[in-house]
Amino acid sequence: AELDLLGISDGMHRDVEKILITEEEIRMRLDVLAQKVLIDFADEEIVVVILLKGALVFAADMCRRLPVPMTVECLNVASYHGDIKSSGKVEFLDAKLPEVGGKKVLVLDDILDTGLTMRAVIDRLGELGAREVRGCVLLNKLKVRDVECEADYKAFDIEDEFVIGYGLDYRGRFRNLPYVGVMKSEVIE
Ligand code: 5GP
Ligand code: MG
Ligand code: MG
Repeated sequence: AELDLLGISDGMHRDVEKILITEEEIRMRLDVLAQKVLIDFADEEIVVVILLKGALVFAADMCRRLPVPMTVECLNVASYHGDIKSSGKVEFLDAKLPEVGGKKVLVLDDILDTGLTMRAVIDRLGELGAREVRGCVLLNKLKVRDVECEADYKAFDIEDEFVIGYGLDYRGRFRNLPYVGVMKSEVIE
């Protein structure tokens, strides 16, 4: 029975082809990234907007590295619908959007890919009256964006391939991997 338990805990790791960014690399890089954010956001209350669900793990680690007065909001946006390709449009799924009027806002997302999500969110928060909106992502895919959009802060540049872990999913799974990696091709349905 104990061996079975070990087998279960290994279950998610065995679907991983390779690890791109280790836990240790993430920790060290976030320490540096947080310092950069702090230089720009040091002296006033900020609103941190977390894009669910992908940015949850990244946001938990980033918020705790930003010792400034903040409120935390979450936004439910959809563009990927759990699969490996972008659907090309961004939907805001919340009945009520955060109150950001006059505020300085830091948007946290897991990854900048086509740029559609970050672009749509920054634009919408601007329409809601935010005084300034900056984007911060864990991963920056090196590719031509579908829309003009770059993050103000990014932890890692990566190649244009589908990644999982540290919040990023494939069909809802793998968000709990502590590192960023690539799936084995046989996992893709
Ligand atoms: P966008 O294409 O709008 O820049 O990215 C939208 C969302 O697609 C991201 O927030 C993320 O949730 C998802 N996404 C983009 N690239 C990847 C990837 O390589 N792996 C995973 N798991 N999700 C991705
Ligand atoms: Mg996302
Ligand atoms: Mg997803």
